[in-house]
Amino acid sequence: MRDFIYNAQAARVLFGAGSLQHLEREITLLGAQRALILCTPVQQGIAEQIATILGVRTAGIYPKAVMHVPAETAAAAVAEAVRVGADCALAVGGGSTTGLGKAIALQSGLPILAIPTTYAGSEMTPIYGITEAGLKKTGRDPRVLPRTVIYDPELSVSLPVGLSVTSAMNAIAHAAEGLYAQDSNPIMDLMAEEGIRALAAAIPAIRANPADIAARSNALYGAWLCGTVLGNVGMALHHKLCHTLGGTFNLPHAEVHTVILPHAMAFNAASAPAAMQKISRALGGAPAAQGLYELASQNGAPVSLRELGMKAEDLDTVVRLALQNPYWNPRPIVPENAVALRSLLQHAWEGVAPVSST
Ligand code: NAD
Repeated sequence: MRDFIYNAQAARVLFGAGSLQHLEREITLLGAQRALILCTPVQQGIAEQIATILGVRTAGIYPKAVMHVPAETAAAAVAEAVRVGADCALAVGGGSTTGLGKAIALQSGLPILAIPTTYAGSEMTPIYGITEAGLKKTGRDPRVLPRTVIYDPELSVSLPVGLSVTSAMNAIAHAAEGLYAQDSNPIMDLMAEEGIRALAAAIPAIRANPADIAARSNALYGAWLCGTVLGNVGMALHHKLCHTLGGTFNLPHAEVHTVILPHAMAFNAASAPAAMQKISRALGGAPAAQGLYELASQNGAPVSLRELGMKAEDLDTVVRLALQNPYWNPRPIVPENAVALRSLLQHAWEGVAPVSST
């Protein structure tokens, strides 16, 4: 047994189909009276349903959450919370909506109750991101960790199949990198492996029947575990590349994670054999990188950066940006590995099966 540090992060979790019915009790337990409900424009229907459940405890609906939390959106949402006298932010939706809740919490100290409807996992992390003048600044602050999370798989049934698959791959990426994190610990390893197992089983089942509540439950359970890993240990090369591709080239979040993950695993395979073994076990025995590639490709997910709109001539820039302020990685992100990094990106751009390199 190795030495380790484990920080438990306090959040109350309600899990189960129909758990939304306990919402009013949960708002009361938070010590709140008036919730400002946050959502994206496309999820206004569910926000209105929640407003009806909460009745007089609804301070208002703010349906303007967008990807990457622009600073102006955050400022407008804080002003709205003050205007309506909200004492709690209720975020219903994916990582973009939870992110808006976090921006409000950061500035105002209001507690967040999160109701995730994708598998991104932001609800389990103290990590926030705000975009100002085209630059996304991220940070950690315990105030932005939602106090209560309601996981109700019935609310994820409407998540389109394509986004369900890529969002699940996004969750798997948190666990896969958590398994070789510098600050990993045995508790997070258990969660990571179980999270990958649950999501890998859920993906084909959701694809076969998007309304399958057992499959949706399995996916949300996996998302919770993988999100917890993301919130507790450091991420490495895969997340660095995805932040660069998402931030600088504006590629879609979950899809980029799906495309890069098998190639990042192939790049790190020889430097992190114990992590690869756990990923492989969770996938049912296939080698980690190949198994992840097949999980995505056999379930209709994009496998190439090319199909996401990335230009081949920009790949060199990604290598350059990855080498600037590199994250820790089991195989160091240093100029000596630039050629291997460039071929990782080339494979991802073409969408071919991952190739391990040393
Ligand atoms: P998203 O929140 O942008 O959602 C994508 C789209 O799907 C939105 O239009 C949303 O309204 C819609 N949607 C969500 N759930 C739905 C449902 N059940 N039915 C129908 N439509 C639904 O996407 P995401 O992948 O969840 O989140 C991505 C963002 O979250 C990125 O900005 C990423 O950086 C951030 N993120 C942050 C953390 C963190 O710890 N801070 C973790 C993961 C992701």
